[in-house]
Amino acid sequence: MLIGAIDGGGTKVLAAVMTAAGTLVARRQAAVPTADIPAYFRRCAELLATCAQEAGVAVHALDGVGMNIPGMVTPDGHVLGSPSAGWGAFHARPLLADALALPGERLFFENDINACALAEQRFGGAGDNFIWITISTGNGGAVVANGSLVRGSGGCAGEFGHLKVERDAPYPCGCGGVGCLEAHASGVAIARRAVEAGLPAGTDAKRCEELARHGNSAALSVYEQTGVYLGRALAIAANLLNPAHAFIGGGASKALDLMLPSLQQTLAQEALPQCGHLAVTRTRLGYEAAVMGAAAVCLTGLTRPRTRR
Ligand SMILES: [Zn+2]
Repeated sequence: MLIGAIDGGGTKVLAAVMTAAGTLVARRQAAVPTADIPAYFRRCAELLATCAQEAGVAVHALDGVGMNIPGMVTPDGHVLGSPSAGWGAFHARPLLADALALPGERLFFENDINACALAEQRFGGAGDNFIWITISTGNGGAVVANGSLVRGSGGCAGEFGHLKVERDAPYPCGCGGVGCLEAHASGVAIARRAVEAGLPAGTDAKRCEELARHGNSAALSVYEQTGVYLGRALAIAANLLNPAHAFIGGGASKALDLMLPSLQQTLAQEALPQCGHLAVTRTRLGYEAAVMGAAAVCLTGLTRPRTRR
């Protein structure tokens, strides 16, 4: 069994052909502009077709295709909106179906962070109660409770990025609120706080990590405080959901060890003792988490009872 997986991002797209066990057979990555939506989906289809060719199969021979959307989307591809891609509402399934010349019912869609959580569950052995948080440009999140992805009534569950974690000196967030996790602990926020802490202009989260690893005290304190913010968000999640595990992904998760002591301390202070026992680790799926997520979305979709729309 071979399936297609497309991680559609706001700046780049990763396409792959994979086995049902999650082994990558072929992969392709490219920067794809999002302004022209039909052109975006045609480019995604081209990347997947190239992967299929490398894997020695025709696209129509793939059992199905899973695609991540960097925003809110229903499983049958109704995009509700994507701030990072600059998209409003549209129906993605017919666009991808046309571009791939595949029947729409073999295409499955999911929010990118939800997809990462599904990959952690299917391929990473994450169990039935866990949360997934990214630290990249923004902070995304997903919740798996009692074995199922929690979507919420409008598909918006798991928005960890907009939990309020700073009330004394709250910074404005892209959502219009202030003091959100994303305004204080995203990659962008880490870079801003690094410069505020006196590091040279242009210091990004990665450079701040390098400086911290060389013992720079300002850089260390930036990551220490980021751990406090994450700990506050995780304490809210712990009290609400009592998860066994929090998986941290995204580029800045490489610095998790620098954040973990203050994160654990904050979690212990702010979560109920009975709820706060959760393991906090980086995802083991690494850079491929999202594209493996798209594969998990496809495999989950193929085993769901069919509904024609
Ligand atoms: Zn916000």
